Amino acid sequence: MADVILDNINKIYPNGFHAVKDANFTILDKEFVVLLGPSGCGKTTTLRMIAGLEDISRGTIKIDDKVVNDVEPKDRDIAMVFQNYALYPHMTIYDNMAFGLKLRKLPKDEIDQRVKNAAKILDIEHLLDRRPKQLSGGQRQRVAVGRAIVRDPKVFLFDEPLSNLDAKLRVQMRAELKKLHLRLNATIAYVTHDQVEAMTMADKIVIMKDGYIQQIGNPHDVYHRPENIFVAGFIGTPAMNFLNLKVKKDNGFFLNSDSVNIKVPEKFEKYFENYDGKEIVFGIRPEDIYDKNFVDPTSNASSEIKSKVEVVEPLGSETLLHVNIDGQSITAKVNPKTEAVAEQEFDLVFDLNAIHAFDKETEKALF
Ligand code: ATP
Repeated sequence: MADVILDNINKIYPNGFHAVKDANFTILDKEFVVLLGPSGCGKTTTLRMIAGLEDISRGTIKIDDKVVNDVEPKDRDIAMVFQNYALYPHMTIYDNMAFGLKLRKLPKDEIDQRVKNAAKILDIEHLLDRRPKQLSGGQRQRVAVGRAIVRDPKVFLFDEPLSNLDAKLRVQMRAELKKLHLRLNATIAYVTHDQVEAMTMADKIVIMKDGYIQQIGNPHDVYHRPENIFVAGFIGTPAMNFLNLKVKKDNGFFLNSDSVNIKVPEKFEKYFENYDGKEIVFGIRPEDIYDKNFVDPTSNASSEIKSKVEVVEPLGSETLLHVNIDGQSITAKVNPKTEAVAEQEFDLVFDLNAIHAFDKETEKALF
């Protein structure tokens, strides 16, 4: 078992900056947890506290039921893979991978076996005699992962390991890390600001902003049931659309602006009880908006909504329409056969089963 439990963790840097505020979450044994958030939100600081590279200002971290606040990094049975790989330039790849094991005075045979085994898993056996500068970025990245694997740690920590790779290699390594997770049965905490990486790899995503955890959930939950406007807008590309709409109670509930008049489906009515006459922030994802001529028959189609098309972006398998509705910009991902033309009026349809609504003040989801 290698559960990692963070209990009310805080980090206040010596200059007084409060970088992590009351963080509570658990990385379960064999779980792949991604810490996700924009630059500066405190995710690397959190990872470094788990590794023991940063002091914890308040709260406790437990690994395997043991409080590790005061345990040295080397004694935490954790391996960290850094963004810049941190390879020793003068050593061969073999020695880079063997280094940590030599320090721990493992028998030579065992070191050899572990290095070769990791090299085989990562398909870098043919590179063991080279030095880091003779490798490509992707190969260096594999070596950095290999150096962690040979240690057979309880927990792997990854700090933006793919951010120095080009887009294509990143997609490839993403899949490889996921396979590796399954193959090694590893417990992983992984930091990234890339929501696609988080969505594709994580069992559980911890979304942070300004030092606070915003939501914890599996990829499906954080995408389909975002708890606040920040999470709703941060997860998904193109991002969720937001419209300020007024709630009107009249034989059910309606959401209005000049061009929009949406009847709230019965199943959501109860959430609007306290909002009659008030504005809410309405949310809908681009894929839940249809060209009126190509509405998905399984959707709960709204009445037609007038928009003014600004830009049409054909992507082949789908077309993005950037439109304006009552002065607010919206992106719709529609059927590529759309006949929408820039600068003309065009009618769209929303899937009412996929709507979101947020309180304007608290920015929290109504449902
Ligand atoms: P990035 O993706 O840019 O690495 P991050 O979410 O990982 O961002 P952290 O590196 O954890 O963010 O930093 C969180 C905040 O703490 C930032 O505002 C950063 O400027 C601040 N910070 C980091 N290290 C220190 C330090 N040693 N002293 C003071 N403030 C710091």
